[in-house]
Parts: sequence; structure tokens; C-alpha cells
Amino acid sequence: MEQPYAYRHRPLVEPDWRRLPGWREVTAADWEDVQWQRAHCVKNVKQLRELYGDLLDDAFYLDLERDQAERATMSLLVPPQMLNTMVPDAVPSTEAMYADPVRRYMLPVFSDRDSVWPSHPYSSRDSLHEAEMWAVEGLTHRYPTKVLAELLPTCPQYCGHCTRMDLVGNSTPTIDKHKFTLKPVDRLDAMIDYLRRSPGVRDVVVSGGDVANLPWPRLESFVARLLEIDNVRDIRLATKALMGLPQHWLQDDVRLGMERLATTARERGVSIAIHTHVNSAQSVTPLVAKATRAMLDTGIRDVRNQGVLLRGVNTTQKELLDLCFALQDGAAILPYYFYMCDMVPGSEHWRLAVHEAQALQHSIMGYLPGFATPRMICDVPYVGKRWVDQLSDYDRVRGISYWTKNSRTSVEHDDAEALTRRYPYYDPISTLPAEGQLWWRRHDAGDPVAAQRNAAASRRAAAALTGS
Ligand code: SF4
Repeated sequence: MEQPYAYRHRPLVEPDWRRLPGWREVTAADWEDVQWQRAHCVKNVKQLRELYGDLLDDAFYLDLERDQAERATMSLLVPPQMLNTMVPDAVPSTEAMYADPVRRYMLPVFSDRDSVWPSHPYSSRDSLHEAEMWAVEGLTHRYPTKVLAELLPTCPQYCGHCTRMDLVGNSTPTIDKHKFTLKPVDRLDAMIDYLRRSPGVRDVVVSGGDVANLPWPRLESFVARLLEIDNVRDIRLATKALMGLPQHWLQDDVRLGMERLATTARERGVSIAIHTHVNSAQSVTPLVAKATRAMLDTGIRDVRNQGVLLRGVNTTQKELLDLCFALQDGAAILPYYFYMCDMVPGSEHWRLAVHEAQALQHSIMGYLPGFATPRMICDVPYVGKRWVDQLSDYDRVRGISYWTKNSRTSVEHDDAEALTRRYPYYDPISTLPAEGQLWWRRHDAGDPVAAQRNAAASRRAAAALTGS
């Protein structure tokens, strides 16, 4: 019987890195060595040219260079493991690189961006107000029973759409990153001290950045201290590197250390899980599956995926289900959540409208086992995570959805209306009908910086209205 999505079990494939000119002589032993991977990350356009050489047109490199100079909120950092999953089954051409889903969010180019509204007028650095809700530096207390501990501001890879672009990674020509002020050791001590004094917190997301960039002894010591706090029952370690640099999680000292933590956790009845961040089926390779298996074998409770919905990457039924099945069937990673891309600067071309995310949720229901069917999530500023169907009202013309909440964040102790107020979330303006786009141009009219953008938008809206 014909179905909208045709399931086929697909074995995972590690693309042959020797198809790229710069890696012709690289051995399997080098490839599986974490130090080799870290030493050969691509950090700039020159290094990308050295790797791909003439396979890509000059225009592509210039497009990337222009994006770094004028739009990028994240500097370039792509490990070989991730680069190798771009155009995985052919020698890459310029056209194939432009169209590749992993390239689209790891090596964003200027021409990818929305030319009229590269940023939503209400986009902002730290769009989820995490720093505002720091109980101590780097420890966000946004929900009643759980906290987010940002242990460090770096990752082995930098994603173009990073929601923590405010803090994570190196500064770019357009974004001067904020810096932690406390020394790392003092910051981590302050977090532990706060958690010891907070019996209402039962769940700690240990994040960053990416915990794979913390020297293992320091990560193990922090998690071991969490395990000594009676009220901490769930610990989630956030690492995109399980996919981007699986070689890290395959190191002997990391495996043995995780085994020690998992053993202690089991004795105390605490769950330790790894949360990773995979956005495209082609990123799930045999090495990723091997690293995941190695982590599960240590005795941790689970490995779950929190992907991000990105237009051009994973926002069709097929792209999303291919990814979910690659995770679930191939790598034993639970397809847990997909977040809508947050409203950070430069993200408009990636973001979906809420109604598009609702349609995607509908499109995947019933294909996966219920426990492995991911929820589409909108992280609404000051509200928190909501399933995309949980909105209370929706103005489809202006693209404004309204949401309510059932708990106070740490900055709302004295806010009598916190639980009755409606909180807005904004669709990308380019997805709105012409009437809605016109409204935003008028709304934006008081902003001199917007004048140039509005002129271009007027031309586009006029063309849409006249059908030309
Ligand atoms: S791995 Fe996570 S924290 Fe690091 S750049 Fe990517 S999205 Fe941001």
C-alpha cells in the first residue's frame, strides 16, 4: 500500500574521507584518533580551500567569507567527522555543497540568509533570557525542579544557529561574545553550593558549550559531586560531540570514567543520560553508533536526541523520519525532541512558523513507536518549552502566537501576573501573507536601521501582490 512516507531499513555508512583532496592519505587509524580530529578541524575559509581545493568554485568560498564578515553569529569550527558527512556519497561539487543539509547549518553562506529580514525585529542575543535567570554565574534556574549548568563556553564544533551565540564560541566580526567573569573552578563550586541549598531541584542538565570540551577529570568530578546531592535524581550530559566528534566518547579514559559515574548513579537510584544534537540522517554514521553503544555499555540510562528544526535541513516529513529512523534503528539514540530554532540574530532563513512545526508533528505521528516519536517544541521566551500545539491564540496574519505558563521562572517571584499573562512568539516574517509583511514594515518604521530593509521588502511585497 502506498504511504506518504515509505519506511526502509537503511544500514549506516561511514563516508570515505579519501574522496576529499586534502584527506587522500589519511588512514583509518588517524581518522579514529581524537587528537587527529581536533587538530584537523576547519576553522577558516583558507583551511576549507586546502581541503576541497578546486572541487568548489571561488564563488562558494567568497559567499562563506562574506557571511563570516557580515552575518555570522558563530565562528567556523567543523571537525573532519562532520565535514565528511557533507555530500556523503559523492565527490562534492559546488552545487551539491550548496544543497547539503549539514553544510547549510555548519557552514552557512551569505546567500543562504533571508535577504530582507535576516533577523526578526524581536530577535535577540540570549533570546531565552538564560543569563537573566542565572542563580549563580552559568546556572540557569528557569523551571521549578530543574536547572541548566553551563560548565564552559566552548564546543568541538560551532553550529551556525546556536541558541547560546551570546556566550558560546569566539567573537565574530558582528558579535562580541560575553565572557564568564568567575574562574572556572569557582563557578563550578558556586553551582554545587547552590544546588546543595536548593532541595526543590531534582534535575540538572550539564551543558555548555559541549561537555566534551571539558577535561574528563573535571567533568567526572562535577558529576560525582552532583551524585552526592540527595535531591538530584536526573543528570543529563549535553554533547553534540557524540555525533560531531564520536572519537572523544570512544577514548578509554572517558569510557572508564563514565562507567564509574554510571555505577555510582545506579547504586543511588539516579539516572544519567546523554543528550545529543543531531539534525540530519546523514550525520548518523557507524562511528556515531559505536560511540553511543560504548556509552550505553557503561550503564548510563539512555542516549537521547534533541535536534533543531532548520529549514532546508530537516523540515520535510521525509527528512525528519529518515533522521528519526537512523537514530532509533541504527544508533539506539532516542529521537526525543525537536526544537524550533530560537529567535537569535541571523536565523530567519532557518526558522519555521509555528503552524509549519504543527504540520510536521502531525506528519510524523504513527510511523515510529510512541515512545520514540519526538515532540516538536517551541521554547517561548519567559515561558519555557511548550509542545507546538499548546498555544492559546494565534494571529496567522502577523505571525504572532500567544502562550501561557504554569510556573514562575526565578525572575518572577514578585510578578502577580506571571501565570495569567499571554507571552508572544513570532513566526519568520517571510512566511507571512503580504498583509502581515506590510504590517511588520510599518511596525518597524521607527527604526532607522530598518529603512533599507523596508525598501527591499516593499519591492518584494509589491511583486507578490501583483503576482509578478
Ligand atoms: S554544539 Fe550546541 S552549544 Fe555548541 S555551537 Fe552547537 S548548538 Fe551551540
